[in-house]
Amino acid sequence: MGCGNSKVLTNSSKNGYVSFVKSFVICSNKESEIEKPRKCNGKRNISWGDHDGSIQSTGSIRQLTINDGQRQRKVEKYRAKFDSRVTARYDIKALIGRGSFSHVVRVEHRSTRQPFAIKMMEVEAPEGRQVCASELAVLRRVRHANVVQLVEVFQTAQRVYMVLELATGGQLLDRVVARGHFTERHATRALQMALAGVAYLHALGITHRNLKPDNLLYYHPGPEARLLVTDFGLASSGGVIADWALRTTCATPEYMAPEVVLRRPYTCAVDMWAMGVISYILLSGSVPFGDESRPRFYRAIVTGRYSFQGEPWPSVSNLAKDFIECLLASDPSSRMTAAQALSHRWVVTMAAGSSVKNLQRSISQNLRRRASRASSCSPSLAGSGGLHRTPAEREMPQLEGDQGRRQ
Ligand code: ADP
Ligand code: MG
Repeated sequence: MGCGNSKVLTNSSKNGYVSFVKSFVICSNKESEIEKPRKCNGKRNISWGDHDGSIQSTGSIRQLTINDGQRQRKVEKYRAKFDSRVTARYDIKALIGRGSFSHVVRVEHRSTRQPFAIKMMEVEAPEGRQVCASELAVLRRVRHANVVQLVEVFQTAQRVYMVLELATGGQLLDRVVARGHFTERHATRALQMALAGVAYLHALGITHRNLKPDNLLYYHPGPEARLLVTDFGLASSGGVIADWALRTTCATPEYMAPEVVLRRPYTCAVDMWAMGVISYILLSGSVPFGDESRPRFYRAIVTGRYSFQGEPWPSVSNLAKDFIECLLASDPSSRMTAAQALSHRWVVTMAAGSSVKNLQRSISQNLRRRASRASSCSPSLAGSGGLHRTPAEREMPQLEGDQGRRQ
């Protein structure tokens, strides 16, 4: 089958995000075989090529460095493995991310020279197909300043290539580490943007199900950059969701809501729990639930046991702590919604006012400590992008004694 027609919108809209073209290009199946994707538990991000270095996934915390010769060979290898219809239109520049079923590359549109990201997903295996289908189902529906925008899609029997607006500002936590000054005001600004994206998704009936700092990317490196919600591979467009299997296999446990851990049907409130975990990390650099013993880790989540102890918590306002408590409510029905979170007094007052307490040093120290513990393979403390092997299958029964019967 040959390629159909497709258009690329190259002009940025007033809001700064590219316009959405619903083009879907089916390509012939003549690609050479490329390296198989790793499964969920092997997920990591890498960086190579002539990338400018501004999107170093998990950046200064955990980054693989590859020497220049290797880089060049990798660039050539990946270029060669892109479908010719894609390379006819886009110049492949650099690999900027690698995940469970995908490679993300920075590309340049050949005629307009406009940069984009292409997420190439492996769809031969059922798991990859499912993840890709979930992602596309969401990306085709969304258009919001705080949600990554799909531009066009190419498809072969083995792979799907999603052309996305390119985020060059790095992941949420990279920016905290990189800057010398980080206050509650900065935190509320970032959270406001993420919450605006999440509120929009929830209004459409979409649950992201994999919210974490790695999936929140800044559009550009400047201080006023939009924060984009990305990575919809685990997203669901349903109401009450019961397919916890995919979620508990692939999602990062640190962000998992109690109802997911307990394998109960759940709703978009799971995203709000994740926003609570993200907020906690953003303000402290440490995780609310991170016991090295897996049973204790899961038990802490389902019993909602966490504390505001250690640095920098004494310097953090009570309003901020109240915000986190309202998100980390064990009962999903009493958890704050995205709309409520956006109008929480901490978000409203901090975003408007100014906060002088610089939390950056403590946060960076805690993030570094957490990253080094993750690299020594602690199961529940792995870095934000590093843990995808959920032991839920083995460990949930141990929780039953505490929590009664699973539903
Ligand atoms: P996965 O499902 O494999 O986690 P992601 O969509 O999160 O896939 O992409 C993997 C990595 O690729 C991200 O962590 C990010 O560093 C990079 N990435 C993804 N989408 C973009 C984008 N639109 N712009 C820039 N980098 C991106
Ligand atoms: Mg991701």
